[in-house]
Parts: sequence; C-alpha cells; structure tokens
Amino acid sequence: MISTSEASQLIAGTMPEVGCETVALADCAGRVLRETIHAERDQPPFDRVTMDGIAFSYDSFDAGVRRFRIQARQHAGEPRLELADADNCIEIMTGAVLPLGCDCVIPVERIEVVEGAAIVEDGYQPERRRFVHAQGSDHRAGTSVLQRGARITPMDVAVIASCGKESVSVSAQPTIRVISTGDELIAPGQAIEAHQVRLSNGPAVVAMLQTHGYSDVAHDHLADDRDVLQTRLAEHLASADVLVLSGGVSMGKADFVPGALAELGVKVVFHKISQRPGLPMWFGIGANREAVFALPGNPVSTLVCCRQYVVPALRQASGRAPARAEYAVLTRDVTFKPQLTNFLPVKLAVTDAARIEASPVMTNTSGDFTALSGTDGYVELHRETTEFSTGSVLPLHRW
Ligand code: AMP
Ligand code: MG
Repeated sequence: MISTSEASQLIAGTMPEVGCETVALADCAGRVLRETIHAERDQPPFDRVTMDGIAFSYDSFDAGVRRFRIQARQHAGEPRLELADADNCIEIMTGAVLPLGCDCVIPVERIEVVEGAAIVEDGYQPERRRFVHAQGSDHRAGTSVLQRGARITPMDVAVIASCGKESVSVSAQPTIRVISTGDELIAPGQAIEAHQVRLSNGPAVVAMLQTHGYSDVAHDHLADDRDVLQTRLAEHLASADVLVLSGGVSMGKADFVPGALAELGVKVVFHKISQRPGLPMWFGIGANREAVFALPGNPVSTLVCCRQYVVPALRQASGRAPARAEYAVLTRDVTFKPQLTNFLPVKLAVTDAARIEASPVMTNTSGDFTALSGTDGYVELHRETTEFSTGSVLPLHRW
C-alpha cells in the first residue's frame, strides 16, 4: 500500500493546471494572480511631503533666516510650485509635491504665522529633506511588485490599484462537483426512517472547498446503483474539472464507485493509502484530464481526506505555491498500531512562549464527525513510529 506522501506526490504529478481569466480589480481579492505586476511609476511618484507645515530652502535657514515670507500654499494633488525668493516659504500640506527650490520642511506645530510670514520656533533645528518621502524610494517604475502565483490579499489590491490596473489575470475557478453516494442517505428537510442516516458529508465537503476559496462547487446525491452511477458520473465528468465523491470505495457489495469510474475511462492512479482514517481512498484521472477523488464515506475519513489531498491539489492546479509547512507540539502521549499514518484531530492553543500546542480530540470511530466540530485541524503521526510522547513536534494541518 502506498504511503501518504506517495499519494500526495502521485496527485501532484497528475493534476492539470486550470486556465486563466480576467477579473475586475473589485473582484480579485482571494483569487490567484497569474501575471507579474510591474510598477506603473516610481513610488512615491514625486518627492512627497509627509507633514503639514512650510517648505523652504535649507541654505537660507543655515544663513540665519528665521522669518520666511509666505509666498503661496500648495495642497496635495496640485502641480508643483517654485520658490521665487530664498527668503520665501510655501505653506505645504501632507501628500503635496515638494516645491521646486525647497529642500526643507518644518511642521506647522513648530512655526508661528505673523502678518503673512512664518517664524520658526526658537531653537528648533530642521534637517535637509526631513519629512520628505523621496521619489522612487519605495520602488522604481517597471519593478515587479507582485509575482504570479500569489493569492491576492487586501494589501496586494492596494499595489495593483497603485499600478493603475483596472483588471488582472487570475486562475479560473475550477468546476467542482461533490457527489455523495449511498442509498441510506437522506438530505436535511426530507422525512427520515430509523434505518436511514442524514446526508452530511456532501454539504461539509462543499463548505470546506468554499472556505478554501473555490466557488464553483455543486453537490449531487446518487444511489448505490451501477447504472445510475454510470449515467450520472458520465454527465458530471463531461461538465466538471474535478469530481469529489464520498462513499462506495470500500469492499462492500454496494461499493460500485471504482468499477463505475473504470467503465467511464477514468484511469486509477491509486486505490488505498496506508493511513487512518481514509485507507480506501481512490484517485484517478479521466479521459479529458478530469481529476477524480473518491473518498471513503465515513465522515471523519471524508473530511480528513478532502483536506489532506483535495485542498492541496486544487491549490496546485490554481497555480499557487504549496502551503508553508506548520508544526505543533503534542500535549499528551499517544500510541497507535504500526503500519498506518494516523491523522489525529486536535484543538490548538498558543502558549505565552508563542508555542503552538495540539491537544488530541479522540473520535469515537471514523464515523464520529460531531467530535470534529470545534477542532482546528489534525496532526500527522507518521507510520514509521507507533509511540508519540508529550512534546513531540508534529506536522499540523489546519482545516
Ligand atoms: P461507505 O464508504 O459508502 O461504505 O460509507 C461508510 C459510512 O459512512 C457508512 O456508515 C455511511 O452511511 C456513511 N456515509 C457515507 N456517505 C455519507 C454522507 N454523505 N453523509 C453521512 N454519512 C455518510
Ligand atoms: Mg456507501
């Protein structure tokens, strides 16, 4: 049986990249940038004054001038004025261009205005070019300021806007279909019998994918019937980039999913991973490069496998760099059977020493999804070891 890391590598080597689309600046936050953004202009685009006050020539102050005749006023957004006389000053507002002939700014709090002149506070020592944010000191025109592959943050939106761009190229949203299989499953809102169970995986998987930034996600529920599976899965394959199935991949007499997918030309890349939960997971690739994840139906298995394999695969397909690895410290001893990598749900706490601590939350079998509510993610206990002591540093995956 393949290991968890082999499974991740096989998926990474198989997933096709999604295409690009152009979106308006107002709609680009959270999307994955697919172009390099170059600075439109120097930043700041001119010598920008950073205080309300007066601007004048430092040489005049150095020569002993303390009373400067106010020549004019310059606000932000006004064209640059020019100093007409060495003993003049120009009243200046934050964000304005430093006037020509001026290289010194004194804040308004340090002057007194008397009969059209600004008198500098006794003993105040100005500095040349203090309170001036120099042209091009942040970056020069043409510099690449955002790299492709970044998920666009609000801060990035400011950078894109500052480059004068009304729209950007981003990764298209992959079309994802989540499919629950099982005769026993009854959707919320429908009457239910004692022997039936509520369909909960489908909505949870849709929610998880939406939380990770994927919006083109719809759900379908199919019966455990070979013909129904074949017909409906063919339709879904024709219309989607990615299928995420839950249920029907184990050894039961009604587990028709791998067979139905094979009939439809979906080539199996692997079936079964040495992990708990989620051992029977199946992954394949369709004739038109549709990625098909068939997750075991046990609710904890479905959610862990979705987070562990589907979410990183979609991230890669969208052109993003892999997520930065995270680690947490185990708060108590745990022992597992050998040969299987365990994904153990945890609650996190951050200590005053900035240490991330993970407290295990035991699930009552992989059917106990209620216990997952309130967890932050899970830690990975690799199959090479069976005993993990308090203080072990483990890979952490947040939901
Ligand atoms: P399966 O993988 O189809 O054998 O399902 C394993 C267990 O998970 C069974 O007890 C199913 O009833 C349950 N199960 C499967 N799919 C879902 C679902 N969408 N929502 C809730 N439970 C499910
Ligand atoms: Mg089933």
